[in-house]
Amino acid sequence: MRPAELHSAATKRYKVQRTTKAGNMPAWRTGRRPVFLKHAATFAAVIDRRYSRKMIVRARIVVTMDGAPIPNGAVRVSGDRIADVGKFSDVASANDEVVDLGERVLLPGLINVHCHLDYTCLRGKIPRQTSFTNWIRSINAEKEKLTAEDYVASINAGFAEAQRFGTTTMANLTAFPELIAEIETPIRTWWFAELIDAREPERANEIVESAIESLQANKNWGLAPHAPFTASGSLFQRCQEVALRKNLLLTTHLAESREEMEMFRDRSGWLYQLLKEIGRDMTDCGHETPLQLFLRELHFSQRDPSTSFGMTGRWIIAHLNELTESDFDSLAEIQQKFSIVHCPRSHAYFGHAAFQFKRLQRLGFNICLGTDSLASNDDLSLFAEMRAFQKKFPAVEPEKILEMVTVGPAQALNREHEFGKVRQNFLADIIAIPFRESPAVYETILNFVGKVPWIMLQGKITDTP
Ligand SMILES: [Zn+2]
Repeated sequence: MRPAELHSAATKRYKVQRTTKAGNMPAWRTGRRPVFLKHAATFAAVIDRRYSRKMIVRARIVVTMDGAPIPNGAVRVSGDRIADVGKFSDVASANDEVVDLGERVLLPGLINVHCHLDYTCLRGKIPRQTSFTNWIRSINAEKEKLTAEDYVASINAGFAEAQRFGTTTMANLTAFPELIAEIETPIRTWWFAELIDAREPERANEIVESAIESLQANKNWGLAPHAPFTASGSLFQRCQEVALRKNLLLTTHLAESREEMEMFRDRSGWLYQLLKEIGRDMTDCGHETPLQLFLRELHFSQRDPSTSFGMTGRWIIAHLNELTESDFDSLAEIQQKFSIVHCPRSHAYFGHAAFQFKRLQRLGFNICLGTDSLASNDDLSLFAEMRAFQKKFPAVEPEKILEMVTVGPAQALNREHEFGKVRQNFLADIIAIPFRESPAVYETILNFVGKVPWIMLQGKITDTP
């Protein structure tokens, strides 16, 4: 669904939005500390509407991710864009229509660059397994029971949940691109077709072409060869060729588990056995690590072609938990770094090797946080993901952690000049959560639990389901 249709559909069930003219505001600015009225309803001009071509959104503090937070801040929204941001006194004029959010923190909408909404309905269905391979067996057994209707319902439920948690942009991998046409997408979505050819590598090109047929009607889409153990070298190469030609994004799972490392490096282990059993050609095993295989097959050592963001830059790589010292040497040599998505709670569920955040960050990779699917996580909250990350990496500043679900993923999607910050001319994707006097504002954001009470997507105030 296009944003315009999305908006008209959403307006049918809007709630009362209280606004007033800035000129009717009390002279609260005269005091040393701004005084915020608790009840916006006391304002004279209460207007029942959810969308204005031009409005001022005011809050106790605006966290822009583009400089210091702005106390008593405001954002001027014009159409789908942010026209101005700053102190309320500087941004508003007497005749402006003001949406006063009072004691709230305004911040950019969150961005999840790794999830699989197909499996929202598998929440709690797969208890922790003794191995990654057993988890694959279990999820495959659960998938056997699902129909196309189940998947559509699952994806819709996933979108609603992500939106409730303040996610305004999402990169979603789907194994069923043919179902996308059935889905009403409530938030900005990059659809990635998750492609597998382990049993039939001779069909790689055909599989890619068929996915493109389903994907190309969407505004934002890309290709996701699933992982080196399920997608052949030809499938990876074909996806990259198409991405360069059509200027698309690419994503995959890489070096996620110990068993993936054992399979490729040592030609042994449970994953090796499973894939051998199903008839995968295992001649690529026993030579190199998953990362080295990936880099070699995609010719990352060659000079990046001078396209808008190159060959390497268009890859969003999920996981990278299993890396050897020689892998780190290879990563250091890559000139244009790809983006990495770490999924803290899914990582904990599987008990993977410690994520080497510091080393990867020092090498210059753009590291983002994602939720992964609910077949290995409890919910789709990026707030919970930030807290899980902070628990493991307490030395990382909360502001930097918030960057990993705003600025970082916007860069991963090659849209760092369009969203991820509250900044002039950026798309007006903003959310608000309750303000707490203490602790500091970034901690307040990380500590937020529950449904995000106020969301604006592309200049439009949306009800959360
Ligand atoms: Zn995944």
